[in-house]
Amino acid sequence: MAFTIAIDGPAAAGKGTVARRVAAHFGFAHLDTGLLYRATGHRTMDGTDAVTAATQLLASDLDAEDLRGPDIAQAASRVAAIPEVRAALIDFQRAFARRAGGAVLDGRDIGTVICPDAEVKLYVTASDDIRAARRHAELVGRGHDITYDAVLEDLRQRDARDSARATAPLRAAPDAVHLDTSRMSIEEAVATAITAVEKARS
Ligand code: C5P
Repeated sequence: MAFTIAIDGPAAAGKGTVARRVAAHFGFAHLDTGLLYRATGHRTMDGTDAVTAATQLLASDLDAEDLRGPDIAQAASRVAAIPEVRAALIDFQRAFARRAGGAVLDGRDIGTVICPDAEVKLYVTASDDIRAARRHAELVGRGHDITYDAVLEDLRQRDARDSARATAPLRAAPDAVHLDTSRMSIEEAVATAITAVEKARS
């Protein structure tokens, strides 16, 4: 049976962790939709046209070396503002969302545009400094040489671009459950999300 959990929010708010853990808890498949935009952005860095890159995206492109770095994040947020790029990625995301056995998708427009009928919608946020500190620790842990201030600047720039774009801007769906993870441990955030899902399933 199909069951979709849509998780949206700004960069580094904890969506990915919550999405992965909730998916594992319920045995659902998980799609980090940011990877689609990161892989598209990555391909434009060698001069490929963004719409061509999105149209021709292959599953293997999602495995490219370190798509999660800050340069690719900026390229992702730039291509994500192009309506034809977003349109090229819609069918894949919707098919994933309705697969048998349940799906969790995290991104920016899942509850508003990709899956407006999702059974559960969560909007995950955290303060700028907490998000920057978490992302900084994560990037340094993976070997990136980057300062806290550069991470904060990347998050703020992307949030501004993602919120201001005309097509599918970053927004909470009106019926989303809001989850501010600033003062929560991962366990608390995941438990709150699981409770919201269980409520919808009962
Ligand atoms: O989630 P992540 O930080 O990996 O996403 C990278 C960029 O991809 C975001 O800054 C945003 O511009 C774009 N994105 C989007 N819609 C999504 C997921 C990501 O526009 N559903």
